[in-house]
Amino acid sequence: MTFFYPADGFQSCPLCGGKVPASSRYPRALCVQCASEATDENGRRLTFGNVDATGGLQVRYADTGETRNRPFCYVRGVKCLAEEGRFGGYVIQPIETHFKLSPGCWYGWEMSPGYLDDGKPYCSPILVRSVRRVGRRSDRLHVRFWNVLYADGVQDFEKRLHVLERAPDRLTAAIDPGYGPDRRAVICEIDFRWIERHCPNILRSFPVSRCSPSAHGSVSAYLTEVFLCSGSPG
Ligand SMILES: [Zn+2]
Repeated sequence: MTFFYPADGFQSCPLCGGKVPASSRYPRALCVQCASEATDENGRRLTFGNVDATGGLQVRYADTGETRNRPFCYVRGVKCLAEEGRFGGYVIQPIETHFKLSPGCWYGWEMSPGYLDDGKPYCSPILVRSVRRVGRRSDRLHVRFWNVLYADGVQDFEKRLHVLERAPDRLTAAIDPGYGPDRRAVICEIDFRWIERHCPNILRSFPVSRCSPSAHGSVSAYLTEVFLCSGSPG
């Protein structure tokens, strides 16, 4: 990390780590640069300002100047809320509903292109072991995980992920950008339906009915039992 801002005077932009004047009222305010990238849900660029000298938030489409009646916007895939600043102007902050990776949790991993020449993506449940930011940006991650359907003995993966998009239940990331083949992964919340759709062999090799009762209603308990207690499926 190159920059450390003084504790007084500045805070970090939650999306890029850039410098933002400190505010206890708006601790997660976006920096000017990130705010300038805001778009609507269809990618149309938005601009923000006040209705008049007395304030009031005004959101407009940058291309037509037409006003928009919704205060929501998106910056690099993160849903944000724009509001009128207490002392005029405007403030944009992320809404904390976007998908986050947590250590110790299972996720679905869908990588494109896959490892084979058949053009199909590679899919596997993964168990995330650690997640850390690279620098101060929330869209640059270093993730360590068990890639449980990969070859035995080499399932311990470490990847740099460059997050391209976050939705409530998934994120899309470029894998190790700049190194090796150009690959992307969609990492999502996992459930039995995801396994059935993307990795049906797991359920065939390890029917839920033959697992302990705790694995019946919990996909995490099921995956832990199958992959961490009894080895990999054949
Ligand atoms: Zn920023």
